Amino acid sequence: MPRVGVLGLQGDVREHVALLEHLGADVVRVRRPEEFAQVEGLVIPGGESTVMDKLSRAFGLRDPIRAAIDDGMPMLGTCAGLIMLSDRLTDGIVGQQTFGGLDVLTRRNAFGRQVDSFEGEIPVPALGEEPVSATFIRGPVVEEVGADAVALAALPSGVVVAVEQGTLMGISFHPELSGEPRFHQRFLDRVAARG
Ligand code: GLN
Repeated sequence: MPRVGVLGLQGDVREHVALLEHLGADVVRVRRPEEFAQVEGLVIPGGESTVMDKLSRAFGLRDPIRAAIDDGMPMLGTCAGLIMLSDRLTDGIVGQQTFGGLDVLTRRNAFGRQVDSFEGEIPVPALGEEPVSATFIRGPVVEEVGADAVALAALPSGVVVAVEQGTLMGISFHPELSGEPRFHQRFLDRVAARG
């Protein structure tokens, strides 16, 4: 049973913990470097990326997380978590930093006010034939997928909403809210494969 962390500074931490535990993982809420040192993979939840950025720096988590990304630790970021894992960000606030790791350009709050929250069925071929039921809440989109990353899913308009690069995955929406377990299972498989 792999021990994995959910970054617990802010956001929808509880929903990720519940889904990972349902899938059989041993889950630690990570707020301190000592907690991060115990885990073999990290989920970065949805929430507010500007706050996660500030708190992760204040709590001394940014540098160890950055080092773990370089070392190949599996990570899954949803929504604000995708922002945190993006190498390049547009529409961030002044001084906003990300951890990086995914060779992508991501735009914050990309859907505009009228349609900032919606649900839809999205095909994700890497997860099998059954489409994913996706919940978007003021989500980001991936505007450019660099040479090192691959798109896992796009909206009918062609806008990319899920990407993968090695052991890192970032998605614009919230599978932990729609009860979709396959991204988290893929993350746990990556953790197990590494162990
Ligand atoms: N708009 C948020 C941000 O910029 C992301 C929204 C979410 O995670 N549901 O971090």
